[in-house]
Amino acid sequence: MDPRNTNDIAADLAKVRARIETAERAAGRRAGEVMLLAVAKGQPVEAALAAAQAGQHAFGENYLQDAAMRMAALPRAEWHFIGRIQSNKTRAIAERFAWVHTVDRASVAERFAAQRPAGMAPLMVCVQVNVDGDPAKAGIRPDDAHGLVSALRRLPNLTVRGLMTIPRESGDADAAYRGLRALFDALRADGHPLDTLSMGMSSDLETAVRHGATIVRIGTALFGGR
Ligand SMILES: *Cc1c(COP(=O)(O)O)cnc(C)c1O
Repeated sequence: MDPRNTNDIAADLAKVRARIETAERAAGRRAGEVMLLAVAKGQPVEAALAAAQAGQHAFGENYLQDAAMRMAALPRAEWHFIGRIQSNKTRAIAERFAWVHTVDRASVAERFAAQRPAGMAPLMVCVQVNVDGDPAKAGIRPDDAHGLVSALRRLPNLTVRGLMTIPRESGDADAAYRGLRALFDALRADGHPLDTLSMGMSSDLETAVRHGATIVRIGTALFGGR
């Protein structure tokens, strides 16, 4: 793969930030309310460094092994795990990441609670919801969200922050994000103190911000194709 010119990455970061701000204003939201998570999977270390030098603080990673070089190069960045969670990888995730967006079963959350090192801040957790019933993706059914959120909130060393979804690739992102927002509102109405909706990618961040996204996860628009 050709590493991209670092100037391109700084320019693309500015473009994505502008897209987010335009979407925030269009939705009547405060500018700066939505957090940009830069998804650097498969990218050379230089790409992540260029984004960090241009002021990017939070990075998302799908695979531990692929993430290792970038994480070593940027020890002060905030790292978010957004990939499928294998049980035998929970310790490494608990030791290295600030956030996990893809919790889809109590068993992995129990492992995170037991394995989060003493002295680290609680692990910030989102529950992944398969809102559009896509068999190709992980995530719980919306009907199971109340039960799982209640169970996770009883665990030590982690803080349940909210919900995350990935819409079907050629599906209806508008319906998916509207659905996740409705579930989020229902959980909050039930007394769960959630504040995070992790939804929106390069092609549909405007739709996600309109429906209340608080974190958008952006790869291609920042780093080019993979
Ligand atoms: C790769 C990935 C993204 C970024 O997708 P782009 O379309 O490249 O912006 C976001 N979320 C998850 C879970 C991903 O795996």
